[in-house]
Amino acid sequence: SIVTAPRRIKALDPDVVNKIAAGEIIVAPVHALKELIENAVDAGSTLLEIVVKEGGLKLLQITDNGHGINKEDLPILCERFTTSKLKAFEDLTSIGTYGFRGEALASISHIAHLSVTTRTKDSNCAYRAHYDSGRLAPAKPGQSADPKPIAGRQGTQITVEDLFYNVPTRRRAFRSASEEYNKILDVVGRYAVHCDGVAFSCKKHGEASATISTQSTSSTVDRIRQIHGSSVANELIEFESADERWGFKAHGWTTNANYHVKKTTLLLFINSRSVESSNIRKAIEQTYSTFLPKGGHPFTYLSLEIDPQRVDVNVHPTKREVNFLNEDEIIETVCNDIRTKLANVDTSRTFMTQT
Ligand code: ADP
Ligand code: MG
Repeated sequence: SIVTAPRRIKALDPDVVNKIAAGEIIVAPVHALKELIENAVDAGSTLLEIVVKEGGLKLLQITDNGHGINKEDLPILCERFTTSKLKAFEDLTSIGTYGFRGEALASISHIAHLSVTTRTKDSNCAYRAHYDSGRLAPAKPGQSADPKPIAGRQGTQITVEDLFYNVPTRRRAFRSASEEYNKILDVVGRYAVHCDGVAFSCKKHGEASATISTQSTSSTVDRIRQIHGSSVANELIEFESADERWGFKAHGWTTNANYHVKKTTLLLFINSRSVESSNIRKAIEQTYSTFLPKGGHPFTYLSLEIDPQRVDVNVHPTKREVNFLNEDEIIETVCNDIRTKLANVDTSRTFMTQT
């Protein structure tokens, strides 16, 4: 047989590595948007305006009124692992903010055209910068890449255009813009319910009225009403739960036994990050099974605060999966408290109809 010489092993070009990593973090437009929302909330914003074109593939724009970004930081803003939120590994265990790995903007800049307009309180103007593959880039060929002073108000506007323009296989995998827009509305709706004191709006580019619009002064129930309707909001009961042994506190709103639909809606936040948990979903459905007719499911908004030292948010760059200690005990405690509330509402109603 013919034995050929092995090919030489070579390091991949860093830009190729970064492009691959970016594709792992940002699978669909909604993943970019989630990071941008978390950044805006981290920046102390009370107003977030989102504009979307073609399901976010053509345009994702998010404008906030937060603390802005210092002009001096703009050159490294989109480098990988640059962040204002983490200084040492130990900080990982006490992190209070959402994203912390400094990867979101870097990732986006590798697979989209990214521009940033930002103004801090102490600056007398705003600055606009364009990015390509982690670095400042000119807006048009031949121009300077330096951030340009322009007029603008305090806060930050991030514009993401032509997502996946240089990842044609990924770009082609999206069949329906409205499907991507629905995923975006789902995530915006979640944060709009959770973020007390923050006004959200989300609309399609070129349309006059917003698909989602909440006010900063609205109560949680009113925000749920605005997004999920009165049929849900009219039947909500508040619950609270805590246990020092497991290092957690929980708070939320869940529907009473009058309300049931075919599919459970679970808005789950762990330490203010929107996450998924099939274990929690199943336990809640189990809790309701004795209160609702067969096949009936609830609406639940649950915000869990877990001692950060007990949470492992580092499972995967997408951070959609979260592990925490004593998961079974925490879920059981929360569900017991929900069950007690449901039973109380049930008996008080029976009592009232009897008198
Ligand atoms: P991370 O959020 O993990 O730090 P990102 O890539 O998402 O990483 O953001 C990098 C840095 O850019 C943040 O640490 C923050 O300092 C700054 N930044 C990003 N978005 C905003 C924003 N909307 N307002 C103010 N600062 C921002
Ligand atoms: Mg971030």
